[in-house]
Amino acid sequence: MLNPLITAKRILIAAAQAPDSASLMRLIVERIRTALKVDVCSLYVMDEQGELVLTATLGLSEESIGTTRMAPGQGLVGTIAQRQHPLNLDNAEHHPRFRYFEQTGEEDFQGFLGVPIIHLGQTLGVLVVQVQETRRFTEEEEAFLITMAAHMAGSLAGNLKKATRPLVTDDHVPVLRFQGIKGAPGIQIATAWLVKDDVRLDDIPERDGTSIDYEQQRIAEAMADTRDELDTGLDQLGSNSNDTLNSLLDVYKLLLQSPELKQAIAEEIQLGVSASTALKRAMLSQIAVFEAMDDPYLKARAEDLRVLGVRVYRHLHEELNERMQPENPVILVGREINISHFTRIDHDKLVGIVSLEGSALSHTAVLANALGIPAVVGIGDEDLSSLDKTEIIIDGYRGLVIGHPPVALLNEFQRMARQEKALQADLSHLKSLPAESKDGQRVRLYTNTGLLADISPGLERGAEGIGLYRSEIPFMAHNTFPTEEEQVRIYRGVLSAYSPKPVVMRTLDIGGDKALPYFPIKEQNPFLGWRGVRFTLDYRNILLDQIRAMLIANVDNDNLQLMIPMLSREDELERFHAIVDEAVAQLKEEGYPVSKPPVGIMVEVPAVLWLLPRLRDTIDFVSIGSNDLTQYLLAVDRNNPKVASLYSHLHPAVISALRGLVRECTRLNLPVSICGEMATDPVAVVLLLGMGVRTLSLSAFHLPRIKWLIRYLHISDCVSLLDRAQNCRTEQDLRDMINDHIRELGLGALIQ
Ligand code: PEP
Ligand code: MG
Repeated sequence: MLNPLITAKRILIAAAQAPDSASLMRLIVERIRTALKVDVCSLYVMDEQGELVLTATLGLSEESIGTTRMAPGQGLVGTIAQRQHPLNLDNAEHHPRFRYFEQTGEEDFQGFLGVPIIHLGQTLGVLVVQVQETRRFTEEEEAFLITMAAHMAGSLAGNLKKATRPLVTDDHVPVLRFQGIKGAPGIQIATAWLVKDDVRLDDIPERDGTSIDYEQQRIAEAMADTRDELDTGLDQLGSNSNDTLNSLLDVYKLLLQSPELKQAIAEEIQLGVSASTALKRAMLSQIAVFEAMDDPYLKARAEDLRVLGVRVYRHLHEELNERMQPENPVILVGREINISHFTRIDHDKLVGIVSLEGSALSHTAVLANALGIPAVVGIGDEDLSSLDKTEIIIDGYRGLVIGHPPVALLNEFQRMARQEKALQADLSHLKSLPAESKDGQRVRLYTNTGLLADISPGLERGAEGIGLYRSEIPFMAHNTFPTEEEQVRIYRGVLSAYSPKPVVMRTLDIGGDKALPYFPIKEQNPFLGWRGVRFTLDYRNILLDQIRAMLIANVDNDNLQLMIPMLSREDELERFHAIVDEAVAQLKEEGYPVSKPPVGIMVEVPAVLWLLPRLRDTIDFVSIGSNDLTQYLLAVDRNNPKVASLYSHLHPAVISALRGLVRECTRLNLPVSICGEMATDPVAVVLLLGMGVRTLSLSAFHLPRIKWLIRYLHISDCVSLLDRAQNCRTEQDLRDMINDHIRELGLGALIQ
């Protein structure tokens, strides 16, 4: 029986090891041809000019690779690409769209099956198989090829797009453009610093060992750790639980336990080399044995061993997590840039972020916003290694990264970066001026923080308080849960820096995409799972310690307000209050002069929209967490680049829900503010002011721009723009309408 999943999986594993895209493309057609037992398998890839180029083939003439090309609609392949629909023909030549490409030698093949490779709605290419006999392919074969194409599209989109690009030569280095998602605004030109989380077995450096016993012990521990990792089903390729894939993990485990491998490593160590050198040598010699085999199934074991070898190596080398110490400021570039990277580099050396994964609302983006550095995320499966140590441009307004930029482009971006700096400098005079609209309405501008590093930017830019202190960030930067004393030190630093201005501290909000390195939570649906207050109410002691620490830190400052993340039930609020009361009582008993601070909630779970009258008497304020509220209202994962285009805080349902919420808060006489990223979008700010929101909390970077905007707005205009918003057909129409207004006010520089 044909198993597309296992073939796809093997291709993906090999993809990580393929030296260049030509070998990878060849490997794809080889694997598919073997699996389907056909005479020809060919891959046509859409190039940057929109033409389909024969990029790899087994069965057609090799000379036709790179030279056979067709426009969409032309020939059978072009027709498949244009209609985005397969063609399954017993005799290709009889089809009216058939066109003969002489150099291919395809006249020998009658049976033809071609399927499009589609990614995010776009045709990336066409996969074709052919046989000599006159026959239609079976349904099973067709289904196999369709499934393979879907896997290729999902996992290798970046490799495919790149496959038709010209090769880099010494005298001509082509410009590399990578389109991602806007993570954090700003333009930056600096050296790229590749986060080397990807290791290749062949590149492991060879070293002498310390002592035989020591190296034996190291390798034994690393192999045991790898086995544990496999036992927990932690699959590097992020697979879901599935019988076929689990059996693949079993294969890994078997290989890991193989006496031959253990023996080979032990023998190398006896020769006096380090554990990682022994691992590399033993693995490579076993790999060579498998690679020499004829049986394709056994051959594929070689790839499994490569993956496995790297896994064991990671367990041997904690220094892969060492501190980064560039001489000059750099842009961090990697598959995923997370809090651990932020903590491993000096803040003044970090000026931008580029990541293959993530989306506008992922925590990479939130942190970049907090630090005021541009970020481009969600680029997809691209190879960014050639950018390492070269000067790159990142444009966080458009989600664009440019490698090897020509001088003219560099000059243009330098000009834009200078303009941006000048705007920031121009706006610095606003620091001491109030955020007051033209018609005299006062708006409070607070800041969102979490890192100690972003405390002073907030103050320097005139924040009137902290509207959201993300207390999980210091937790994420630790190796263990911080003690109460340690927390007191951290919170005191924040509260005293702002005192007497108010500081809203949110209690630990982990879960979802915010994992503690020392306390992983594995769930099927993390965003619907053990998040925020749900987690801390179950780990009552952690919440109690945290609240105690906040209260102690507040003793001489008296500016603390507590905020509950991810509340969805009335009883959660009751239980939270009980813990605060207990903390206050305990501390009083211990002699601390503490009192209960105001307690507010985040509106992130839509259920809260209907609970407010019931919660009213036991809360002091609400803060709109528009990042999560949008995600849950629209059922769109805020971190998933595949649905990033569906995530929008201007969606009519979001606007209508917020309007209702603000109205309800006014009716209940409940202070309402917003702390989600929506408050950084000038268009959204106009709408929020129109709704009646008068307190915004946002990253320090955006604060002067939003103040500038507010000082030019008439609230009466905001109200009428909000009313007109209902008649806008699309979110883009709405954005255009408000942007026009912003431009008319002379604030075009705010719209990038
Ligand atoms: C939000 O959900 O809008 C929010 C501010 O919280 P976070 O982004 O930390 O989840
Ligand atoms: Mg949230």
